[in-house]
Amino acid sequence: MTASYITTTIPYVNARPHLGFALELVQADVLARHRRDHGEQVRFQAGTDDNSLKNVLAAQAAGIGVQEFVDANAAAFIGLAEPLSLSVDDLIRTSSDPRHRAGVERLWRACAASGDLYRRHYEGLYCVGCEQFYTTAELLAGRCPEHDTVPDLVSEENWFFRLSRYAGRLRRLIADDTIRIQPAERRNEVLALIDAGLADFSVSRGVERARGWGIPVPDDPGQVIYVWWDALGNYLTALDYAVGGENLSRWWTDASRRIHLLGKGVLRFHAVYWPAMLLSAGEALPTDIVVHGYLTENGRKISKSAGALGLTGTADPYDLAAQYGTDAVRWWLLREVPRGADADFTADRLVARANDELANGFGNLVNRVVSMIHRYHDGRVPALSASDPAAPALDAPALDAAITNAPGLIAEALADFDFRRATEAVWRIADEANRYVNRARPWDLAKAGDGAELAAVLSRLLRACRAVGEHLRPFLPDAATRITAQCATDASGRLPPPSPVLSRLTPVLKDVSS
Ligand SMILES: [Zn+2]
Repeated sequence: MTASYITTTIPYVNARPHLGFALELVQADVLARHRRDHGEQVRFQAGTDDNSLKNVLAAQAAGIGVQEFVDANAAAFIGLAEPLSLSVDDLIRTSSDPRHRAGVERLWRACAASGDLYRRHYEGLYCVGCEQFYTTAELLAGRCPEHDTVPDLVSEENWFFRLSRYAGRLRRLIADDTIRIQPAERRNEVLALIDAGLADFSVSRGVERARGWGIPVPDDPGQVIYVWWDALGNYLTALDYAVGGENLSRWWTDASRRIHLLGKGVLRFHAVYWPAMLLSAGEALPTDIVVHGYLTENGRKISKSAGALGLTGTADPYDLAAQYGTDAVRWWLLREVPRGADADFTADRLVARANDELANGFGNLVNRVVSMIHRYHDGRVPALSASDPAAPALDAPALDAAITNAPGLIAEALADFDFRRATEAVWRIADEANRYVNRARPWDLAKAGDGAELAAVLSRLLRACRAVGEHLRPFLPDAATRITAQCATDASGRLPPPSPVLSRLTPVLKDVSS
């Protein structure tokens, strides 16, 4: 049996989670659910990065202890599993999970044993927001390209990782798709980065600069392990890497797919640093690196720091799920965000999309069909199948094709990590089925007493509703459950009385500044 390990990045917990991270979680959840539905073994892994200097600074600004601060924010990230209906298998927290520190230490020692860690004096420009050094060429007018802030000049003795040694191997592994980076422009970006030359990078900092927070370097307690080294390690430490054993072999070494989902801002860490660390440690490499873009809200990047400054107020995934429902939030993220690209969020778009497709599309279809089966057939599923030659039902080649083709189209689209194309295949069934209702006019058939034709039409429509329930499952697990229940017969052979499976949303215009 194939086994897939699917991970999200572990975000800094310097503030509450925003919708951009919800996107990554929901994408990973869809992949996990779809693979499980197809009989694969899946482990969906997420967590929080507690050991960042950013967290320390945010805690200090808030005037509370670092552990207390990260505990509170980590709970807000981990708690997203419920409002987003995530089927996450495991969550690791890098500051408190006993698996983590021991695993990071083993990873460090493995790279040291390969001769890839050495000490040297270093001076560089460091952005705390990014937790990374920048060369002057990478800055925009002297400022961090991600944060638009002036980086700090850091001068100290650090441990370095011999990244330069792996440039040639990394390039070949990415060029021949041993590590598949999607979309292709991100793959090209990484190849260009490697071609520009890979310098060894600093993987520790003085304990003072780290404010005493983080994982000490093994056998060198004056130094703390660079937070990115520690964070990237979570993909292994969560599998009990410290002690080896079954989880590590099943989900990493012997897994058929090791899939990392991440945002474009952390590509270099996942596509260059991380595989090089794994090569050094003698571990298997990720098979897939899947990169999404950023969400903006009214044209501005949604970020935790922007939220903390009061610049956003509507893009909190908890608030959105509470106000509009889990299905509507997931549907917007899956349906409107283009593959690997940026998208602009507004609550109005979320509501419009949910009303057009969830309420008027799926919801209306299921409700109409179940209501008609009750009205014309006493709630009993018409016995005739659409293909029965005794019932010359109005042909519906487009609807039949939409149903038949959906599983293949969804699988193909998800293999490309194209969630819009995948949801389109489900949407197509409902769209064609609603057209068919209007064309076949079952109410006229009932009036004319054309029982055989009516039964055939209703039977075909119920088949479409059941297909929607089945194929929506990875995308909208909650709605899919309601649709499937609405289309299932009880012991007496009847469908349950019609009740709305997806209702219309009313846009609520909240004053976010109050
Ligand atoms: Zn920055």
